[in-house]
Amino acid sequence: MTQPPRLKDDCFLHDRDRLKHDDVIAQLQARLTPVAGLQDVPLEDALGLHIGKSVRAPRNVPFNDNSAVDGYAFNHADYRKLPSLQLGGRIAAGESAPAALSSGMAVRIFTGAMMPPNADTVAMQEDCTVSSDGLRVHIPDGLKPGANRRRSGEDVQSGEELFYRGQLLRPQDIAALASLGFSRVSTYRRLRIAILSTGDELIRPGETNSLAPGAVFDSNRYMLASLCAAFPVDFTDLGIIPDNEAATHTALAEAARHHDVILTTGGASRGDEDHVVRAIDQIGKRHLWQIAIKPGRPMSFGQIDNCVFLGLPGNPVAAFVCYLLYCIPAIRLLSGGHHIEPTRYRVAAGFEIASKKTDRREFLRGWLEHDQSGGQVVRKFPHDGSGLISSLCRANGFIELAEDIRGVEHGTLVNYIPFTEFGIPAN
Ligand code: AMP
Ligand code: MG
Repeated sequence: MTQPPRLKDDCFLHDRDRLKHDDVIAQLQARLTPVAGLQDVPLEDALGLHIGKSVRAPRNVPFNDNSAVDGYAFNHADYRKLPSLQLGGRIAAGESAPAALSSGMAVRIFTGAMMPPNADTVAMQEDCTVSSDGLRVHIPDGLKPGANRRRSGEDVQSGEELFYRGQLLRPQDIAALASLGFSRVSTYRRLRIAILSTGDELIRPGETNSLAPGAVFDSNRYMLASLCAAFPVDFTDLGIIPDNEAATHTALAEAARHHDVILTTGGASRGDEDHVVRAIDQIGKRHLWQIAIKPGRPMSFGQIDNCVFLGLPGNPVAAFVCYLLYCIPAIRLLSGGHHIEPTRYRVAAGFEIASKKTDRREFLRGWLEHDQSGGQVVRKFPHDGSGLISSLCRANGFIELAEDIRGVEHGTLVNYIPFTEFGIPAN
């Protein structure tokens, strides 16, 4: 006797019962702690890494009081009393221990040069007149004490906490460390990430001779590798897993032994040919699955031993959305950083949506434009399919429609999240 067909165990699961976007972010923040160890790296290699230990300034920056302009340095009390000052000496940047100024004197000084003892103010050379014999300088009225003088420590004070653990090192932060004299910095090491595609239909780009009907070029792995390249991670492309249980188990177990994170695409639902989620249940643990968003619902999170598993949907747009929304926070938290919520800009809709399902959050592909009246609006890609890579190429950001939105009229303010919020340049 044949068995009656079994209901899928989530067939009645309504978006209301699925995890909400904000809950997923909260869970990631609550559950993920750094897995990467600390290392000392040269400043040249530190860009984008997270600081491992807080950094205090070992000295003042600037080290000494110095001049902010090319001009004449003097004591303000003398300047107030005398119509002009006697000129003597010259101090250029890099000269140490300039001689003290005697009363009633001014000294020629250049930008960055140390202020002599007794001098507290500098007049710009453009504002001054030197006598024809070159012996005196006249400085116009109105300069305040301390004008054009940079104070020792005005940038950074010795002992000040400049960086705290987990901060991401940006170009200006590297410059700040260099300005303090550091040549190395303690950071979390790079995460090791494995990228795997799944699906019997997939072939590698370039393999046009195996372009049989039903074949699909594997674009996800190029997309994920390119997305990962924007982060300080070491990623390995482990190729394509065929749609069968044994191959899926072997590939995932092997990847978990050598990586901190596994990223897969495809096979993420509950179909007969979707082996990834079942494999995680068998050889690891699944923590979160199914999110009330569109596209990207079948995103799953789990672990195999100490390796974090992030299972993305197979459809390229859904994989892209899930990577930006969930993998970036996960990667940041695992590599020692903190979660930074992407900024939402409120922009007038240059489109309309008659009806939207409530209880789920939608991420449409959009871009900014000016309408006829010159106002800024956000346009929406005309088609919504989650396989349309062209929609991602056309877009510069997401239009985010929250769970409670039922529709959008022209001109309504909607959330727009530029892709730059995720480190992807605009086009
Ligand atoms: P799946 O989640 O495995 O059911 O895949 C959903 C859809 O995404 C199917 O149309 C797949 O052919 C497509 N897909 C899955 N993986 C990839 C990939 N690596 N590159 C391009 N398309 C893919
Ligand atoms: Mg598949």
